[in-house]
Amino acid sequence: MFIADAHCDTLYSIAVQGKAPEACMITPDRLARGGVGVQTFALFAGSGGVKGHPYENGQAMLAARDKLNVPLYLNDLPDVPPETPHGVISIEGGEMLQGSLERLREFDEAARPRMIALTWNFENEIGSPAKGGPTDGLKPFGLRLLGEMDKLGILPDCSHLNEAGFWDVAEHAALPPIASHSNLKKLCGHSRNLTDEQAKAIIERGGFIGVNFYSCFLREGGGATLDDVLRHIDGIAELGGINALGFGSDFDGIDEWPEGLGNPADFPGLIGLLEKHGYTGEDIAKIAGLNLWNVLKKAENARKA
Ligand SMILES: [Zn+2]
Repeated sequence: MFIADAHCDTLYSIAVQGKAPEACMITPDRLARGGVGVQTFALFAGSGGVKGHPYENGQAMLAARDKLNVPLYLNDLPDVPPETPHGVISIEGGEMLQGSLERLREFDEAARPRMIALTWNFENEIGSPAKGGPTDGLKPFGLRLLGEMDKLGILPDCSHLNEAGFWDVAEHAALPPIASHSNLKKLCGHSRNLTDEQAKAIIERGGFIGVNFYSCFLREGGGATLDDVLRHIDGIAELGGINALGFGSDFDGIDEWPEGLGNPADFPGLIGLLEKHGYTGEDIAKIAGLNLWNVLKKAENARKA
């Protein structure tokens, strides 16, 4: 079965934190064993905000991408999902663009990012985060950026964005909003999770929600189990999200996860659990990878239009 993952921080771990590739949660071998066909590798701006050299971090990650030892799609995707592990690039933390559309085009040419998380946990030139800070919506540059992302076929990732910013994206972006690695707030009351209204807006627009495997986003206070992953999957499905649901593991960016879900080689176990839980084969194929694949293709088609 084709499996796809919308978010990880492996490139940051290797290029900025200096971790050995073989010590990361995501390795080529584990991707292959888990059946992962598309792994999204984020260029994470870093935890220093606009003053933390986000652009330089981005360049360092691009320079280190060969260390992943996973072939990356830096141009159009193939017509059908791949059977062996491949990667695509995303950006997490729009401060990497330094408030400049030129920078956006530069990253687009270098690595073809498929999605940009407009903020990480700090206010930047685009908007403000879900985790504290101003409650205002997108700034003028944020709105201009959305227009350019629409042209380039880059999905607006709202995973770290505050609510006012989210609704600006929902209103102004032609491409559907996505949340690459977020869960449901009603099931785990964390600022990083989505309200039902946000999840429904993503679903109605044909976007994507990647369930995050970080314990503290799965269950209040942490200590999450695989049952908590199922609760969030069920919750999103109950909102009508069977065509929007997927995975946003956050591997290499998390320090606590449900037992049995610690790296990509554990995906088949999760798939088996979905089978036992009563999901049809067709629905599982969508959740496992086709929904993410489809929204990536939708974005790519918008670029060509
Ligand atoms: Zn994140």
